[in-house]
Amino acid sequence: MSDCLFCKIVKRQIPAKVVHEDDKMIAIEDVNPQAPLHLLVIPKAHIATLNDLTGEHDALVGEMMRRAAAIARQHGYADRGFRTVFNTNRESGQTVFHIHLHLLAGRPMTWPPG
Ligand code: AMP
Ligand code: ZN
Repeated sequence: MSDCLFCKIVKRQIPAKVVHEDDKMIAIEDVNPQAPLHLLVIPKAHIATLNDLTGEHDALVGEMMRRAAAIARQHGYADRGFRTVFNTNRESGQTVFHIHLHLLAGRPMTWPPG
């Protein structure tokens, strides 16, 4: 997707603070952090929303979840706790239509979310 922000970040056409990269995904610092730790785990493949997932993506999404947990652990939040969020479409607040897993940690969080 030539006009996708996260595809451009994956290809290093737009700068970002990359904290993890492997063959399937990157993790970057969110430019507008909502918690002391706010990272985005982004697959290298362009997938617009969770509605576009197929069975072929099961392993990828599982690895994204495990990567988020591993990063949270590296930052000392495994026991304190952290939040992982995928927003999907308008009412959730999704603004970038390339799936990304938010990892938020470092402050108490409320439930239900706003
Ligand atoms: P969402 O609203 O779930 O689609 O989340 C999009 C997230 O991407 C927001 O938290 C934004 O702050 C973040 N974001 C937007 N542009 C950039 C960028 N250039 N680098 C890093 N994060 C970004
Ligand atoms: Zn994309």
